[in-house]
Amino acid sequence: MITARTRICGLIGDPVGHSMSPAMHNAAFSSLGLDYAYLPFRVEKERLASAIEGVRALGIRGLNVTIPHKVAVMPFLDGLDPLAERIGAVNTIVNDNGHLQGYNTDAGGFLKALLAGGIEPDGKRVVILGAGGASRAVSFALAERGAAIVILNRPPEMDWAVELAASLSRFSDKGVRALELNEQNLRAVLEPADILVNATSVGMSPNVSQTPVAKGLLRSGLVVFDVIYNPVTTRLLAEAREVGAEAIGGLDMLVWQGALAFEMWTGLKAPVDIMKAEATRALAGAPKPAAKAGKTAKKSTKTSVALIGFMAAGKTAVGRYLAEKLDKRLVELDSLIEQRAGKSVAEIFKDGEVAFRQLEIETTREVAANGNQVIACGGGIVLNKINIDRLKEEAVVVYLVASAGAILERVSADSTVRPLLENRDKALTIRELLKLRQPFYERAADIRIDTSELDIRAVAEKVLAKLEEYEGFN
Ligand code: NAP
Repeated sequence: MITARTRICGLIGDPVGHSMSPAMHNAAFSSLGLDYAYLPFRVEKERLASAIEGVRALGIRGLNVTIPHKVAVMPFLDGLDPLAERIGAVNTIVNDNGHLQGYNTDAGGFLKALLAGGIEPDGKRVVILGAGGASRAVSFALAERGAAIVILNRPPEMDWAVELAASLSRFSDKGVRALELNEQNLRAVLEPADILVNATSVGMSPNVSQTPVAKGLLRSGLVVFDVIYNPVTTRLLAEAREVGAEAIGGLDMLVWQGALAFEMWTGLKAPVDIMKAEATRALAGAPKPAAKAGKTAKKSTKTSVALIGFMAAGKTAVGRYLAEKLDKRLVELDSLIEQRAGKSVAEIFKDGEVAFRQLEIETTREVAANGNQVIACGGGIVLNKINIDRLKEEAVVVYLVASAGAILERVSADSTVRPLLENRDKALTIRELLKLRQPFYERAADIRIDTSELDIRAVAEKVLAKLEEYEGFN
């Protein structure tokens, strides 16, 4: 409950509606039982000075700062952390009895994410793409940690990269260079590089089919860090994994920058796992599950059912049973994709996971437009939120839950080719993929059924019972 004692933190920016921070911080406060609340405040450029005065007047404990205020806010503060001053941008403010101190936790967040991935940048050769806000934070974090740096930027804005390299070289004895971003330079600098950081917005949603570096220039042994967090797996990261490179995504940086801000406001260790789960859930975009679900009673006039869940959860077999009982058409999405592509899923995956996901988006769009179907979806359909949004127009989404153990047992017992498990340690891959995807399934589900101990018929009967309770489904 919010009272006069509740401490308020928040985010200022314009826009702020897309931000994961309110979900992430409020979940962290509540998990530790703290009397804090976090609010998004849309502040127009012209109102920035009054907004900061308001922070003092209202006794707001702390703020995150996002576009377009990260630089403009600096003159209104009472003090700057030296790293924020060097970077030239503030993303976190701490209010200590009216004294507003500015910090940049993007830099620390990036470094924490890298170190948490087991990568120590000291003495490494790093290629950074872009010279905007994120690049400045990443570059200073890396220069201070002892990395040798090459910054690549597009020709029209080379001045930014040259200026950034000059500032960095004052704090680095390992070498800093700026070059034009083109294929020839990329090829030359990537060959001896240890780490590649994409700090451009290339590949960010909705332009998910773009990538700043051709797959042919990636290789195993390279660490690829993409600061973009939406989508969680960019094309660059997917292709890096395909060639055996280590891939780290911007979601980890987002979570860690938030965790560092949380620690400054509260003085307590941040619950990083909870923050990550909440950010992932917020990114997947569906509403939070109700605290206590009694009868599943959502207003709906839906005529289709979409079955989601991990590989071998029983979607097709359960779908067949349901289609017969409900007298609806069965659509098996992966088979439809195979028919349209004229090749198997395994063959499509040879062109890369991204190629498959594009086909999946197109096919889902067409299928989702029809009613009266039971749709058995592929395991990764939830990774693109647009698929779930489209399916939910007509379909009740049912999540068939299965434990990692049950999945391993089932995939070991059948001969289906599963590209994501090919040539890998099956048990480990299943555990890792399941951990990544679970929040997406939970977020998408209208109904969830645990299948681990049940046979197909029992699962299907449970689904039918739940659908009967689901108000408005017919
Ligand atoms: P920014 O200041 O606008 O910088 C964008 C950079 O991308 C610039 O260097 C720009 O080059 C470059 N760029 C844009 N389009 C390009 C293209 N087609 N080809 C080559 N370069 C291109 O933005 P920012 O604040 O740095 O954000 C960049 C990305 O980082 C965004 O996706 C943002 O969401 C992400 N980010 C993530 C976190 C996190 O916590 N994970 C934190 C901050 C930012 P020019 O200079 O030539 O325009």
